[in-house]
Amino acid sequence: MAKDKAKRRILHTNVIVIGMGRFGSSLALELMRTGHEVLGVDTDERLVQQMAQELTHTVRANTTDEAVLQELGIQEFDAAVVAIGADIEASILTTSLLLQLGVPNVWAKANSKSHGRILEQLGAHHVIFPEYEMGKRVAHMVSGESLDYVPIDNDFVMVKAKVPESFNNQTLAELKIRSNYQVTVVAVTKGDGAYEPAFPETVLQSGDQIVVAGQVEPLDKFCQVV
Ligand code: ATP
Repeated sequence: MAKDKAKRRILHTNVIVIGMGRFGSSLALELMRTGHEVLGVDTDERLVQQMAQELTHTVRANTTDEAVLQELGIQEFDAAVVAIGADIEASILTTSLLLQLGVPNVWAKANSKSHGRILEQLGAHHVIFPEYEMGKRVAHMVSGESLDYVPIDNDFVMVKAKVPESFNNQTLAELKIRSNYQVTVVAVTKGDGAYEPAFPETVLQSGDQIVVAGQVEPLDKFCQVV
C-alpha cells in the first residue's frame, strides 16, 4: 500500500512552474510529456495564453504575494520550480514564500553566482544555473574532447565519446578500461540512436560511440586518450 502510494507520487507529481520564459516553459512541457500535472504561472498574460493549451492549468498571477500563493493552493504541490531569472527580487521573494509555506521540494533558477548563493542561503532545496551548466557542457563538445558531457554530481560525469582506432575489435575486458582508466563504459551505440548496454565481452569497433561514467579527473584523462 505504502509502496503503491510512493509509486503514484513519482509517476504523477503535481508541480507548479513559476515563470513561463524559455527555461520555465521548456521545463513545464517536458514535465507534461512525462506524465506530470503542471500549473504554469506568469505575470505576463501573453505567455499564460501561449501555454494554456499545453499545460494542465495556467494562471496569470504575481507570486511575490503570499495571498496569491495561498489562493493557488500551494500546499497541495509536490514541487515548485521558480523559473524567474532577471527579476532577482521576484525570484527571492517567491522562493522565500514557497519555503515558508512548506512546499517540500523547491527548485530555483539562478542567473548568477550571487543570485544562487542567496537562494541557497534561503534554503531552496535545489539551485540550478542553466547557462553556467550548459556553458560547461558545451565547452567539452566544442573542444572536441567528447560528443556530449553531462555532469551528474560535483565530481561525477557521463560523457559520450568516439571509440578510437587503438580500441578497434577489442572487448572491454581486454582493454581493462576500469583498471587502466578508472572509468566505466555504460553503453555502446553505432551512432544510430540504438544503445546496447556494455558488458565485459562487448567488442568495440572504431567509430562506435560509448557512454562512459566516472569521476571528473580520470574521465577527462580518458577523453584525451580516445
Ligand atoms: P528565460 O531565460 O527562461 O526566458 P529569464 O531568465 O530572462 O527567463 P525572466 O524573464 O526574468 O527570466 O523571468 C521568466 C518569466 O518569469 C517571465 O516570463 C516573467 O514574466 C515571469 N515572472 C517574473 N516575475 C514574476 C512574478 N513575480 N510572478 C510570476 N511570474 C513572474
